[in-house]
Amino acid sequence: MDANNPVAAANDPYTVRLNKIFSKHKSEGGLTLNYKVYKVKDVNAFACADGSVRVFSSLMDIMSDDELLGIIGHEIGHVANKDTRDAIRSAYKRAAISDAASSQSGVVNSLSESELGTFANALLDSKYNRKQESEADDYSYEFMKSHKYKVTALASAFQKFADMEKASGAERTKTEKMMSSHPDSGSRAAKILDKAKKDGLSK
Ligand SMILES: [Zn+2]
Repeated sequence: MDANNPVAAANDPYTVRLNKIFSKHKSEGGLTLNYKVYKVKDVNAFACADGSVRVFSSLMDIMSDDELLGIIGHEIGHVANKDTRDAIRSAYKRAAISDAASSQSGVVNSLSESELGTFANALLDSKYNRKQESEADDYSYEFMKSHKYKVTALASAFQKFADMEKASGAERTKTEKMMSSHPDSGSRAAKILDKAKKDGLSK
């Protein structure tokens, strides 16, 4: 995917900002993390089982630093909870890459470039179920709390998604990929705020 997307250079303002936010998070959830920005219009972010975190510049445009921490904490949660492994297996299947679906890691190295493109798209279209989403939210909440970040930023990030869902059709397509795996952002924001209140971390 790095080969198929415009990766922001090391001195790019987006990279500089992302490094500044995440420099203290080189390892989380048993992963050694590395971060890159894709300069693309889609609003998205994802993390992979090898610890690669990829954040899209359009997401960075609309989120505060704390909100980005919340969203990336959520994506790391999917990896830590092994949701990503399951999604990759299913993405292989949807990309119709023969029996690679059940194969071991390393298979990706032998795919052709066009197969990789298809696979990358299938991976980005991955949908997690409600329980997985809820558990990734919980993971991010604990991540934020343990590092003493504002846990309410996770709620405000979801509220921004909720507002975008309500917005125009054009905005909707821009966020569709991320939204498709994150249904009902408004109620998720409310749930996080409830939890924060109970923990005395929000009024
Ligand atoms: Zn998710």
